[in-house]
Amino acid sequence: MDNTVKKLIGKLEEEHSLSREEWLSVFGGWDDSDRAYAAEKARAISLRVYGNKIFIRGIVEFSNVCKNDCFYCGIRRSNTNAQRYRLDDEEILMCCDEGYEQGFRTFVLQSGEDFAVYPPERMADIVRRIKEAHPDCAVTLSLGELERDALKLLKDAGADRYLLRHETADKEHYAKLHPAEMSFEHRMNCLRTLKELGYQTGAGLMVGSPYQTNECLAEDMVFLGDFKPHMIGIGPFLPHKDTPFRDMPKGSYELTLFILSLCRLMLPDVLLPATTALGTIREGGRAQGVLAGANVIMPNLSPTAVRKKYMLYNDKIGTSDNTSDSRLKVEKEMAEIGYEVVITRGDHI
Ligand code: SF4
Repeated sequence: MDNTVKKLIGKLEEEHSLSREEWLSVFGGWDDSDRAYAAEKARAISLRVYGNKIFIRGIVEFSNVCKNDCFYCGIRRSNTNAQRYRLDDEEILMCCDEGYEQGFRTFVLQSGEDFAVYPPERMADIVRRIKEAHPDCAVTLSLGELERDALKLLKDAGADRYLLRHETADKEHYAKLHPAEMSFEHRMNCLRTLKELGYQTGAGLMVGSPYQTNECLAEDMVFLGDFKPHMIGIGPFLPHKDTPFRDMPKGSYELTLFILSLCRLMLPDVLLPATTALGTIREGGRAQGVLAGANVIMPNLSPTAVRKKYMLYNDKIGTSDNTSDSRLKVEKEMAEIGYEVVITRGDHI
């Protein structure tokens, strides 16, 4: 029996780092027994660091208008079939109030890059109002790429965290997923700026995105190991019917779980969501994500009337639940595997 991958998993657990070549051996040679082996170790680490507690974040998808045209995304600007919407400030605050009642202590404000209508000054005001209304809560922003001054303004207004998936750490691969007007360097610089400004910073990628190779994944792991984000969002690629990638195959459920475990082994205290995409590709996927080392779940707090319109990929789950349904569903799903949803900001340790 060739134990190379298990040996490398053992090395990762001890040293929290592998070389690019070692990552290539992992991605080129793993099988289901390696995945189970990594999951067992990752779960043990997650239990040691965060216990059987699951942090929940309430996502408010306040605008599905985006100036960008990423090839994989259902709300890209060229998708004329998307029904666009924008929530006003009061609606955003109401979503947070409702979320607070349901036990959420982190609000994630997410949108397309819609800076013409939601400039940093307006967002800063919204952040300030949320923090005034709920001083015990964390605010996470997921607004896309902004310049340092804007990010500083938002940080000074009280934003605690920022999510910006890098999507791929391989520049050539980046160019296959995004139009030429978008810049790999700008995305990476933005991530560095976020960390410098003191945000708890989240990076992340889609597993199985079109043209992704083992080399790309090795590059992603090396990047994540060097950058050490506080959070990593990882979900399988899921095609959307109105995008150029409509006929591309879905990412692998198993590989997504495996990479979650590898991230936990590499960065033991990282905040690791079992993403909605994981729950969409397979029923019970989020629970399996937790059993593979994830410790965060991000239910939707957006008004039910707009949820179906924030369709980044086909068949997204949770689009017809209301806030309390989403919360209860997650609680039940987690209780079934011996985990407990807790009412806390759930900061990075
Ligand atoms: S992935 Fe983000 S930036 Fe790209 S089109 Fe979609 S919402 Fe816009």
